[in-house]
Amino acid sequence: MRLNRHHELFRDSVRGVLERVVLPELDGWESAGRMPTHDLFRALGEEGLLGLTLPADAGDGGLGLDLGYAYVWAQELGRLPAGSPAMSLSVQTDIVLPLLAEAGGDQVRTRFLRPAIRGELVAALAATEPGGGSDLATLRTTAVRTADGIRLTGEKAFITNGSVADFAVVLCHLVEADGERRPTGLDSLTLLLVPTRLPGVHQERHTGKLGNRACDHGRLTFTDVPVPEENLLGKPGSGYEALTRVLTRERAFLAAVATARAEAALRETVAHARGRAVLGKPLMDHQAIAFRLAELDAELALVEQYTGAVFHLLDEGAPALRQASIAKLRASRLERDGADLRLQLHGGGGYMDGGPVERAYRDARAYGLAGGADEALLHLIAGHLHTDI
Ligand SMILES: Cc1cc2nc3c(=O)[nH]c(=O)nc-3n(C[C@H](O)[C@H](O)[C@H](O)COP(=O)(O)OP(=O)(O)OC[C@H]3O[C@@H](n4cnc5c(N)ncnc54)[C@H](O)[C@@H]3O)c2cc1C
Repeated sequence: MRLNRHHELFRDSVRGVLERVVLPELDGWESAGRMPTHDLFRALGEEGLLGLTLPADAGDGGLGLDLGYAYVWAQELGRLPAGSPAMSLSVQTDIVLPLLAEAGGDQVRTRFLRPAIRGELVAALAATEPGGGSDLATLRTTAVRTADGIRLTGEKAFITNGSVADFAVVLCHLVEADGERRPTGLDSLTLLLVPTRLPGVHQERHTGKLGNRACDHGRLTFTDVPVPEENLLGKPGSGYEALTRVLTRERAFLAAVATARAEAALRETVAHARGRAVLGKPLMDHQAIAFRLAELDAELALVEQYTGAVFHLLDEGAPALRQASIAKLRASRLERDGADLRLQLHGGGGYMDGGPVERAYRDARAYGLAGGADEALLHLIAGHLHTDI
C-alpha cells in the first residue's frame, strides 16, 4: 500500500489518541486481567476511529476512507505494548462492522451498525464452537425458521469480546422447520445478528488465559433464542462466503498488527543487546546474536512490504485470500520468533520481568490460532498450489 501524506497525518493523530486514551491505563488493565471495553470503544468512537473504511454515502457514520487507513490503524494498535486493544477492536472495525455495512438491512443499520460505529455498542463474531473451529463444516449451532420466527440453539467458544458484547454475529446453520434437509456442510451456514440481551443467551468469560489478558474472551450459549427475521445478514446459506471475505481482511489486519509488534520488539531487543555485556563485550558484538537479529530484521522488512501489498490488493477489490493468509502466517510466526529471542536475550530478567518482555511472549502466541490456525492457513495455501500452479 503506498501511504501518502494524509495517511501519515492520520497516523500522528491515531498515535496521539492511543497515547492519551490507552497507554496510561494499559499496564493496569493487563495486571487486572480486564479492560473497560465499553468505555474504550466509546472514547475511540468519539474520535471517529471505528468506521474509517465503511461507506460514507450510506449515512451510517462511516468515513469512506481507503484501506491504507485501516493499515495505519492496525500498525498503530500493534505499537502498543500489549495485544489486548488490537484484538478486541479488530473484531469491531475489521470484521463485524464491515459485515453489517455489506449485508445488514435498514433495521440492522439503524439499531446496531450506527451505534457501534459511535462506540456505543460492542460487537463479537461467534463462529468457533467447543467441538472445533478450523473445520466450519462441523459446526452444529442451528437456527430453525418457523412461521413464528427464528429460534437459535447452540454453543460458541473462545469468542473475542464474547462475555461483554452487546451483540454477536453468529455463524449457524439455518433450516426451515418443516424442511426435510438437516444442516450439513457449508451451504446452510448463515450469519445471524443476535443481541445478547435476548432471552436464552448466556455469556460467560474464559479465565486463566495465556495472553492478551485484558481482552475479553467468552463462551456464548444459545437456548431456543428468538431472533427477529430482519437480523439475518445476507441470504440464507451465504454465511461461509461472507465470513471468508471478511476474515481475509481480518488476516491482513492481524498481519499488520503482528508486524508492528515484532518491529517494536526488535527495536527494544537491539537496544538491550547493545547495552548488556557478556564476556566483556555487548551482546550485539557477538556475531551469533547480531546475525539472528539481522535475520529477523530482514524477514520483517519483507513481510512488512508484502502486508502493505495485500492491503493494496484488497483496496482494489481483489479477493486476496491466499495473499492475506500468507501475510498472517509469516507475520505471526515472526512475532513469535522475535518475542522468543527477546526473552532469551533478556535472560532470567526477561522470564521474571512481569512486564513487556514476558507479556509480549505470551501475547504473541494468539495469532497462531485466532483468525485461522497456522495449519488451516497452510491448508488453504496448499489448496492454491493444486489449482494455480
Ligand atoms: C485469542 C483467540 C481469539 C479468538 N477469537 C475468536 C473470535 O472472536 N471468534 C471466533 O469464532 N473464534 C475465535 N477464536 C477461535 C479460533 O478461531 C480457533 O481457536 C481456531 O479457528 C482453531 O479452532 P479450534 O480451537 O477449535 O481448534 P481445532 O479446529 O480443533 O484445531 C486444532 C489444531 O489442529 C490443527 N489444524 C487445524 N486445521 C488443520 C489442517 N487443515 N491440517 C492440519 N492441522 C490442522 C491446528 O494446529 C489447530 O490449532 C479465537 C481464538 C483465540 C486463541
